[in-house]
Amino acid sequence: MTNQLAVPAASALLSTAEAPKHEAFTGQMYIDGKWIESSDGQRFERRSPAHGHVVSSFPEATPADVEGAIQAAEKAYRHGPWPKLKGVERARVLLAVAQGIKARVEKMALLESLETGKPLTQARGEVSGCVDLWEYAASLARTTSGDAYDTLGEDMLGIVLRQPVGVVGLITPWNFPIWILSQKLPFALAAGCTCIVKPSELTSSTTVMLMEILEEAGVPAGVVNVVTGKGPSVGQPLAEHPAIDMLSFTGSTRVGSMLGGLASKNLKKVALELGGKNPQIVFPDCDWHAMIDAVVFGVYFNAGECCNSGSRVIVHESIAERFAEAVVERARQVPVGDPLHPDSKIGAIVSENQLNDILGNIEKGVAAGARLRLGGKRYDANGLYLEPTIITDATPAMSIARDEIFGPVLVVIPFSDAAQAIDIANDTAYGLSAAVWSRDIDTCLTVARGVDAGTVWVNTFLDGYPELPFGGFKSSGVGRELGKQAVEDYTETKTIQLHIGERKNWWLPRTAA
Ligand code: NDP
Repeated sequence: MTNQLAVPAASALLSTAEAPKHEAFTGQMYIDGKWIESSDGQRFERRSPAHGHVVSSFPEATPADVEGAIQAAEKAYRHGPWPKLKGVERARVLLAVAQGIKARVEKMALLESLETGKPLTQARGEVSGCVDLWEYAASLARTTSGDAYDTLGEDMLGIVLRQPVGVVGLITPWNFPIWILSQKLPFALAAGCTCIVKPSELTSSTTVMLMEILEEAGVPAGVVNVVTGKGPSVGQPLAEHPAIDMLSFTGSTRVGSMLGGLASKNLKKVALELGGKNPQIVFPDCDWHAMIDAVVFGVYFNAGECCNSGSRVIVHESIAERFAEAVVERARQVPVGDPLHPDSKIGAIVSENQLNDILGNIEKGVAAGARLRLGGKRYDANGLYLEPTIITDATPAMSIARDEIFGPVLVVIPFSDAAQAIDIANDTAYGLSAAVWSRDIDTCLTVARGVDAGTVWVNTFLDGYPELPFGGFKSSGVGRELGKQAVEDYTETKTIQLHIGERKNWWLPRTAA
């Protein structure tokens, strides 16, 4: 990287005085209401990406174990009480789960932090936030309903029921393990579905802990089953198995589109929440201080390992240099280091593979002629830490400006007018989220309407509410999570046509016989 000489140093790495002391979590699979080991006895371990020690271990599911989980979910759907319960009864169980999560925030947050590398303070916020997702799903369990048509003539009443889609496979990633599961599972349960969950092998603890909570809350056996292990061997059968009616996946666009293809071969319903290359578009008349803060937060939150990461800033050319200097100055001050240190804002990268991928992307961008303005390398220390990185003078055609990097890397691209900013924003395969920064309402609405994105923030970034739908355009996914639609996505409609009074014969008139 030839132009690294002028690159200022990122902040010094924070470390805790001693290695963290805690017992490793020994998880089991939860199938048909029983805690079980793998049928061949194999287990795997997860080490902390920040500290290197073993944090947790889990059974490596065999094909027979996965089959057992699918059969349990199918039996619970066909013959169990869950799909037939009143909405209010399902809601009460979901509310009890919310209380169970609330009571375990500390324990779950610690494991989430140790497995992902994210700051413990942030993990606490995410686990606590899940309480709200389960409570919101409980409200939808009581209020989601079908429709009735009294407009079809005197002899006809049309009723549209919403029934659960059936058995659902849920595959979740490592970046927000319990949060992403809570964007899916309570809504599937609210609809009356039964589920098989496959967490990422890197971050299975909180998913398994959640099963203890579900058990205590009274979720019947077989309604939720957890299988642990690797994606291709344990996750893929959930896309291929004919007994599964719907697949909901969050993760990479590569794996998501492959699984979507497999699932469509047996005509499953598919929901995919995939990657993003999310632009923040900055106009000269914006609230400067708010914008700089939101840019730094948007790209470094969760070390950039976030589908919603604000990884591209498209900035007006008249302020591009002032912007670059200000954002570098602010980014240098972001505290990086031990996820257990109370001041850490950026923790460790989840795995060596992910870290090397990020470094490879940075190198490619610099080789293509973009300018490295901050960071760009690994901290010289134990643990998988990367310096907050800023790259300017990128052109829209460079891979660094188009591909999802999933790390603490900000790419800055200049624009000359709003129409060009929208074109640049839309010039990637993705369409998950975007932001616009301006005090002019016309500018904000023009950009908000014009960008291909499932969510557009205006003068803010990364806010989220269970009430608001979330999902992507283009290669960022299929379907929406959250919002009123969240439960509906786990249902099928059934049309019932009720004839009223005497029905006219098709051909021969009615006879006395
Ligand atoms: P993956 O898409 O590989 O992983 C997501 C989930 O899919 C995990 O549970 C994984 O299991 C599972 N999986 C992997 N391969 C298969 C398969 N063949 N069949 C069924 N399930 C499978 O993401 P990575 O972990 O490899 O991350 C790579 C990139 O993906 C990141 O750099 C980022 O760009 C993107 N990503 C996007 C996310 C998002 O929120 N949109 C989340 C995570 C990653 P296991 O981990 O056990 O292999």
